[in-house]
Amino acid sequence: MKEFKAESKRLMELMINSIYTNKEIFLREIISNASDAIDKLHYKSLTDKNIKINKKDFSIIITANKKNRTLKISDNGIGMTKEELETNLGTIAKSGSFDFKEQNKKKENIDIIGQFGVGFYSAFMVANKVEVISKAYGEEEAHSWTSSGIEGYTIKKCNKDNYGTDIILTIKDDDEYNRYLEDYELKNLIKKYSDYITYPIKMENGTDKDTKMETINSLVPLWRRNKKDISDEEYDTFYSDKFFDYEKPLSHIHIKAEGTIEYNSLIYIPSHASFDYYSKDYEKGLQLYSNGVLIMEKCADLLPDYFSFVKGVVDSSDLSLNISREMLQQNRMLKTIANNIQKHIKNELISMQKEKREDYLKFWEAFGLQIKAGIYNSYGMDKDELQDLLMFYSSKEDKLVTLKEYIDNNKNEKDIYYACGTSIDQIKTLPQVESMILKDKDILLCPNYLDEFVFKVMMKYDEKNFKNVCSDNIDNEEEKEELNNLNESSKDLLTLMKNEIDVKEVKFTSRLKNHPVCLSTVGEISVEMEKVMNAMPTNEQINAQKVLEINFNHPIAKKLQDLYKNDKEELKKYSKVLYAQARLIEGLNIENPTEITNLICDILVK
Ligand code: ADP
Repeated sequence: MKEFKAESKRLMELMINSIYTNKEIFLREIISNASDAIDKLHYKSLTDKNIKINKKDFSIIITANKKNRTLKISDNGIGMTKEELETNLGTIAKSGSFDFKEQNKKKENIDIIGQFGVGFYSAFMVANKVEVISKAYGEEEAHSWTSSGIEGYTIKKCNKDNYGTDIILTIKDDDEYNRYLEDYELKNLIKKYSDYITYPIKMENGTDKDTKMETINSLVPLWRRNKKDISDEEYDTFYSDKFFDYEKPLSHIHIKAEGTIEYNSLIYIPSHASFDYYSKDYEKGLQLYSNGVLIMEKCADLLPDYFSFVKGVVDSSDLSLNISREMLQQNRMLKTIANNIQKHIKNELISMQKEKREDYLKFWEAFGLQIKAGIYNSYGMDKDELQDLLMFYSSKEDKLVTLKEYIDNNKNEKDIYYACGTSIDQIKTLPQVESMILKDKDILLCPNYLDEFVFKVMMKYDEKNFKNVCSDNIDNEEEKEELNNLNESSKDLLTLMKNEIDVKEVKFTSRLKNHPVCLSTVGEISVEMEKVMNAMPTNEQINAQKVLEINFNHPIAKKLQDLYKNDKEELKKYSKVLYAQARLIEGLNIENPTEITNLICDILVK
């Protein structure tokens, strides 16, 4: 007997002791494997002239035997060699995508099954022994793989007439499991979960004397059926089955295109990002079928990067089965299909935004970052396509709004105001923001590092400029002259202060209601951008050109003027402390904390 690999053992343990209520999915998993195996052989037979198999000979046969408590699922697919039995069933094969231990730390049992669909091992939820008898197509010998649980498995040579695989489950001896031996129940399960499988799933029907094979599934893939005959539940089941996501999708789009290019497509917008979505391992793409035969698992050319979260299938009878990856890339028809699909996705999202705002907010939470990245990564080229999908947090509405809504809510403003920081709450407390809010201005509060970069590449939305309330000058016109005069007459004071600290300018301002100081910037780079750019792994240090602004209406202004007259040394200390204060408010660190804290203490003990 051989031992399972460690992760497989853990997964088996979970399956055997499963408290998962949805045990019935094991049948779907096994049927789905059988269908994949037939797909492989079918594809081979279509591309290799030496293999002559008629499509109508393919089938999956299910037989229950109540006396022995066995349930057999047979297919005449590609089968497995001894080595394949070893590698495919001895370790977790799940597309290499899952670090079981890592996931297990965070998630409960149920979630693992839910998130991944555990495939073959799910048989152990209902069976105490699993036997796999398989003969690979073109091989002489057949082998059996047997396991009764985590102790391990054995592989032996055995007899089998035809190529393909038989999976024989010995169903657990407990009333709860009896249903998996009842024909009626099995038929229901096949209908429920595997109806769209494109090969006939057959069961024996009738008495011992006169047995006939009956096909249980309807065989027509879901995407080819009539929209009006398909229930939402069927759409959802198909999704979870095919894409291993047991959270319902937010919506589906069923396209039946006729005319110059004919194709059927069924695509889904997931309700959450998969665990690897924002990692480099994630591969985008739609399944590509030619006339019902799968020719590519993930056709990346069908989706732009910014819609990479979309799942689905495309089936066209106009595509040749033998088409290579390289040829596909240049295929004009494929490009047209991709463009069409892209339009459908965009329209679906826009209508979700208008009619099902709650769903759209879920979408935005999961994939908003991807949409923003789409605008930024294309240097604004995809702006027209994506800008109406964007959402930002409005200070006035106290919720996420679209840019269009912001403009409609603020018809009298000529600009779009925004402010950046680490969280909505933190941004609200920035002195510049707080004073704008007191003036009843609406500000888009942007806690995401990409937000400001997105505005920079967009430049404008609907003829309006984006203005950062922390860096762009938006002082009120009437006060401007008075302020200019003041700054002019205080030139010497301000220069003395500026020479003590690392800023481009020190000036008086009237825009801060209650706060003594704030930090703003001039030029293209804001404080938030400086933070983001310096967090990137390059040697270059980026410095925003900072301006220390002092509230002219705050007692500190008077104090500084007094110090300038009477105690310039003390004024230098004050400059440093006030600058440190402004940096802290902006979430920047202080380069010389010991010096600053000592200065504060000096001032305190005076
Ligand atoms: P997955 O199907 O997601 O890869 P499974 O654990 O369900 O994971 O199956 C592991 C592997 O075993 C499959 O990838 C396939 O190579 C092989 N396999 C399972 N069932 C069959 C079958 N009926 N015929 C041929 N190969 C099979």
